[in-house]
Amino acid sequence: MTPHSLSHDVSGSPGRSCAGCTACCVLPEIGALQKPADLPCPHCSVGQGCRAYDLRPQLCRDFLCLWVTDDALGAHWQPSQTGMLVYRQGAQLTVLVDPSRHGIWRSEPHAADLLQMAQKTEAEGGYLILFCGETVERIRPFISTAAQT
Ligand code: SF4
Ligand code: SF4
Repeated sequence: MTPHSLSHDVSGSPGRSCAGCTACCVLPEIGALQKPADLPCPHCSVGQGCRAYDLRPQLCRDFLCLWVTDDALGAHWQPSQTGMLVYRQGAQLTVLVDPSRHGIWRSEPHAADLLQMAQKTEAEGGYLILFCGETVERIRPFISTAAQT
């Protein structure tokens, strides 16, 4: 088996790596693989890598989450540790949360980070949508009292 991490190490931020993480092979729905959300892809060895690495579809080759490409997202957002996966889809900043970790996005420091992410994304003309099991929520930026006056 070839680890999933090999392709991602090429373009990740310094110090960031996919090693030991398979969150993007578990959390998203992947139509091309007929994979529902929140279940491992049939080719995934969870926490290890892709058993079909050389044959994986192009979308798997192209995918990089925000944690691995942007060190502005703190180390505490490491997907395999948090059960949360952050990535961009055009104007949409998407956050997928493992339903078994459903409380994590409402607790600190992640809750405050999400508000900041929403604020930055909306300032850039985008929006932030969070998915957790059956929950779909648009995260609205925090508007301070000072900003409203
Ligand atoms: S979720 Fe991110 S860090 Fe984890 S394997 Fe996928 S791209 Fe790499
Ligand atoms: S084919 Fe491989 S890289 Fe793509 S989702 Fe499945 S396990 Fe992950």
